[in-house]
Amino acid sequence: HFITFEGGEGAGKSTQIRRLKAFLEAHGQTVTVSREPGGSPGAEKIRDMLLSGGAKDLGPRGEAMLFAAARADHVDNTINPALERGEWVLCDRYADSTRVYQGEAGVDPAYLDLLEVAATAGRRPELTILIDVPPEIGLKRVAARSKADGAGGPDRFEDEALAVHENRRRLFLDLAVKEAYRFEVIDGTGDQDAVTSAIETAVRERFSD
Ligand code: C5P
Repeated sequence: HFITFEGGEGAGKSTQIRRLKAFLEAHGQTVTVSREPGGSPGAEKIRDMLLSGGAKDLGPRGEAMLFAAARADHVDNTINPALERGEWVLCDRYADSTRVYQGEAGVDPAYLDLLEVAATAGRRPELTILIDVPPEIGLKRVAARSKADGAGGPDRFEDEALAVHENRRRLFLDLAVKEAYRFEVIDGTGDQDAVTSAIETAVRERFSD
């Protein structure tokens, strides 16, 4: 099964992915955890370029194409092989992040749709968990995290206006309404255990066979 996690900065995606992996493994399942941009050796190289600012001379359409190139490689070399082995795949960001981030940056949605079709080659998540937090809360968490361990940032995306983060939150929530059949919106403001059990309930309900 293929589950994607979406949300803004500091939503808590990586913690919850780790916990869901442990939960599934405790139930005898084999789990591959991955992330975007990246998730395969080739795509991780593109990630480095994107996050270090190495692609900053590209316009938004060219940059969107790099995200798509990374996704194509990730689908072919990590996601599809794991699913073919019968594993669960939990992915930190996927095509919805492109619709939201590159869409918010002004790239034409019709162009993004074309790239999505090309990059995913039909591979769609069965369930998308959107961890929703107001940006004020998420950004505070990110700031505390990079202060505590020096990791996680800063990358070229981390000096943006609050309004930008608010737009993205709105776009994620709109997508969740539009494609409600595969989305589960989880309130990410509560404590981590509450978020974890909401996610476990959602997963149990979807895959109860
Ligand atoms: O939050 P996370 O570490 O998963 O995301 C990595 C960075 O890549 C984020 O700062 C996010 O803003 C950016 N990103 C993006 N477009 C995407 C996916 C991620 O700009 N499609």
